[in-house]
Amino acid sequence: MTARILVVDDVPANVKLLEARLVAEYFDVLTAGDGRSALAVCENTPVDLVLLDIMMPDMDGFEVCERLKSNSRTAHIPVVMVTALDQPSDRVRGLKAGADDFLTKPVNDLQLMSRVKSLVRLKNVSDELRLRAQTAQTIGLQELARADRPDEPGNVLLVDGRASSQERLQRALKPIADVSVISDPQAALFEAAENMFDLVIVNANFDDYDPLRLCSQLRSLERTRFIPILLVTEQGSEEMIVRALELGVTDYIMRPVDPNELVARSLTQIRRKHCNDRLRASVQHTIELAITDDLTGLHNRRYLDSHLKLLIDRASARGRPLSICITDIDRFKLVNDTYGHDAGDEVLREFANRVRATVRGADLACRFGGEEFVIVMPDTTPEMATIVAERLRLMVEGRAFGISQGETVLSVTASLGIATLRPQDDTAEALLKRADSALYQAKNNGRNRVVAAAA
Ligand code: GH3
Ligand code: MG
Ligand code: MG
Repeated sequence: MTARILVVDDVPANVKLLEARLVAEYFDVLTAGDGRSALAVCENTPVDLVLLDIMMPDMDGFEVCERLKSNSRTAHIPVVMVTALDQPSDRVRGLKAGADDFLTKPVNDLQLMSRVKSLVRLKNVSDELRLRAQTAQTIGLQELARADRPDEPGNVLLVDGRASSQERLQRALKPIADVSVISDPQAALFEAAENMFDLVIVNANFDDYDPLRLCSQLRSLERTRFIPILLVTEQGSEEMIVRALELGVTDYIMRPVDPNELVARSLTQIRRKHCNDRLRASVQHTIELAITDDLTGLHNRRYLDSHLKLLIDRASARGRPLSICITDIDRFKLVNDTYGHDAGDEVLREFANRVRATVRGADLACRFGGEEFVIVMPDTTPEMATIVAERLRLMVEGRAFGISQGETVLSVTASLGIATLRPQDDTAEALLKRADSALYQAKNNGRNRVVAAAA
């Protein structure tokens, strides 16, 4: 893993020390001797992680962190605060300022490396999502900066073997989350897979169960691998923590649990989860936009081109029939010429609704272009396809199309061509071509009719 890390400390010797250790692990290291230059570096250079000293003259680490996190250009950079004081109150202040983690001076090598690697890994995931969402421009950057968004309550699953700590932790989290509590770690795995949690807290206090087993199972299941995990451990269980972080556990907290620190750490994870969820939804939305026709909401031709091939392969492999229907509105140019383009669009939308109402769930309805539509019908013989097409023809002819200009209603008809997959050596192109010839014949025979291509 290679990443660019900015080390910020007003004492040059501290900078040198951290720099040397990180360079030895092949990280690319930048340094800054005060808060202002640290902010400038982050604004102007891509940085993957900041190691930030708290006690600095002029601008202290808390303020630097706050400024980084409230600037949409730098809010996504993970910040690890490095402090000489191992004060819970300091940590809570830091977490409130938006810090992602803490290290205490003198910095322990194992902790330094596992923290840095785990945060860089998380950042890589968010960066990828951010990039895709940004390319699509479906979300403005503002919306991604967490400082600008109100916190929504999180859904937390607390896995804890003891009633007394269950109660204590649940009480602490109450103001920020809905907490479900469970004592049995194996049952917890099912619970996590079946519900949408924003955070799983695993308290390592089971009598005869290794909590890391649950953590690793959570990381390997498709449905749970993105849920952050916060591990609660005993003081001094460094080895377990290192193994946990390597397994992909997101964060840890040591007993005795300071309620404020628990709240602050949980909030950090819930926010990150919500942010990534939004990014993922935006990427999903982008994909949908790319394969959807704007005007009608049906699939577009691009989608048809790729999906028809899959449906054909599947039908051939299973020896099942597959039919397609191409339909084209009759004399549509006349609608545009008489009532205008907007009225034409309204007719297209209503036509698409009737297509949608005709097809089954397994059918694929697409706008092929202009006033042409294609319906792909898996498991459908030519006889059945003819019945479907005839039904659509009647649905179009049978009820006039309203347009918003005054009281005008239009009679619309359509011509339809059908073709069925040949058992051997057929292709999407050939199939579409046969359906198109059948459509052409329907037009020539007087329009408002269905013609099936010869098998
Ligand atoms: P035919 O019965 O032979 O199919 O006659 P037609 O007038 O429907 O066929 P033609 O292909 O000559 O005209 C199709 C018209 O569809 C021309 C074009 O302006 C119009 N059209 C294509 N796409 C759109 C669209 O998105 N909105 C609107 N309003 N009109 C469109
Ligand atoms: Mg037409
Ligand atoms: Mg046409």
